[in-house]
Amino acid sequence: MDRRLFLKTMATTLAIPVALPTAVDANAATGRWLNLVRPQSGEKLSVIYKRNGQLDKVGYHKVCALMRDVKADQTSVIDLRLLDILDGIRAALVQAGVKNPTFMVHSAFRTWQTNREVGGALQSYHLKGQAIDFHVKDVPTDVLFKWMQQVKFHEGVGMGYYAGSPNWMHLDSRQVGRTVIWEG
Ligand SMILES: [Zn+2]
Repeated sequence: MDRRLFLKTMATTLAIPVALPTAVDANAATGRWLNLVRPQSGEKLSVIYKRNGQLDKVGYHKVCALMRDVKADQTSVIDLRLLDILDGIRAALVQAGVKNPTFMVHSAFRTWQTNREVGGALQSYHLKGQAIDFHVKDVPTDVLFKWMQQVKFHEGVGMGYYAGSPNWMHLDSRQVGRTVIWEG
């Protein structure tokens, strides 16, 4: 989708914000699923990780494996609230006219060593499997970042966007009631 068309559809969505929670709830009642791509390793995954509110263990483990520390080749448990937030973003993007939204995962779980090598914060949520650096395929990240704030996806999350690295944004599921948004 080109940038102008995307902005137009986003503007339409913003005009009807009440439609968003409905979409997310309806999605949660049946299944929660994600399309994930790992550009670093070329892996692709489209998977349901929850059905009728129950964890689909096979799907969930596949998500955890894809969101591993690729460099160290170590897998960790990925926070379910983080996945639910991503699923909510996916559902809302569908409503905004983005076809089959796909999360391009630049970094998710990180071992201590990898985190240090990439200059991550000492108490980074990446260490706990609670953070993802990503972009959505065909969606400009600066637009996505602003839109997520406007549609209130930021409740209980940390969200960061760096103008110097405009191709991805950070999202973490730190704590309900504690929200931090930053632009660098
Ligand atoms: Zn991050």
